[in-house]
Amino acid sequence: MSEPVVLTDVTKRYPGQADAAVEDVSLHIRAGETVCLLGPSGCGKTTTMKMINRLIEPTSGRITLGGVDVLSLDPNTLRRGIGYVIQQIGLFPHLTIADNIAVVPQLLGWSRSRVRERVDELLQLVDLDPGTYARRFPRELSGGQQQRVGVARALAADPPVMLMDEPFGATDPITRDRLQRQFRLLQQTLHKTVVFVTHDFQEAVKLGDRIVVLAERSRVVQFDTPERILAAPADDYVAGFVGSDATLQRLGLAPVASAALLDTPAPGAPEVAADASLKEALNALMAAPGGQVAVRDGDTVKGTLTFDAIRAALVSEVRDER
Ligand code: ADP
Ligand code: MG
Repeated sequence: MSEPVVLTDVTKRYPGQADAAVEDVSLHIRAGETVCLLGPSGCGKTTTMKMINRLIEPTSGRITLGGVDVLSLDPNTLRRGIGYVIQQIGLFPHLTIADNIAVVPQLLGWSRSRVRERVDELLQLVDLDPGTYARRFPRELSGGQQQRVGVARALAADPPVMLMDEPFGATDPITRDRLQRQFRLLQQTLHKTVVFVTHDFQEAVKLGDRIVVLAERSRVVQFDTPERILAAPADDYVAGFVGSDATLQRLGLAPVASAALLDTPAPGAPEVAADASLKEALNALMAAPGGQVAVRDGDTVKGTLTFDAIRAALVSEVRDER
């Protein structure tokens, strides 16, 4: 179950401030896609996100979820239909893990057995053994485990939309990498509409089907796929984001051979040399209608390269560094 989220000319002015925090933002987020809102601290990401579930009311403009104006819904009903995950996790310390996950299903009046089943299912989904963890309290879990419970709790009532505000920001790099992988795996089966806030370009590239690059007051500078943003930044501001990322700089140095190639031939696909950089391969991929390029080493074609393989190489390179 997933729904599109559409913002039309949305503005938020906080009382007593000369500048709007968010000004005239329009975004069309498709059902089932993960969109990363990427921008520096203070540019209005959280404000934009919180207007979707009405934790903040817009000053003007319109927001619809599945075609329904969010302002026409009771805020509590609206919020139960939207999973929300934040950096501070926000688990209730006095409730067990099972009871934390069960909060919304219980509010919705599910039967005890249905709630129990759902809690077990969700714990398994986020890779925590129910027998081991269901009866523990949050303080008895590591930060990364708590964050996974936060994701499970947000998914509890199978909401069509998930809002995630720098959810992995407080975890150490290894845990963060693990949570990011797990999120991608989950999303491959769940296909929720996910709005994911981050200030980390690399995270946006790893997780986003599309990325919105935001400047001050949530001004949309580029809204595109990670591939397009990497290969063709809209302007110097976006290029700055792309170029300042150390991993992506290494993308310019890493050879095509460092990515896993598919054996399947790509008839008619453009070719890159095996000793070309991943950045060059990415540029060739952008121009390739089938999303594949053939990798040539002298007389032989070694295999086929896709964006997923480049993304995987990026991720593993980050991991290898540690
Ligand atoms: P981000 O999430 O991108 O860091 P925020 O949406 O939190 O940005 O903030 C955007 C701007 O709005 C900032 O200038 C911030 O200081 C201001 N702001 C955020 N929340 C409030 C508030 N409750 N009252 C007044 N100003 C706020
Ligand atoms: Mg924020």
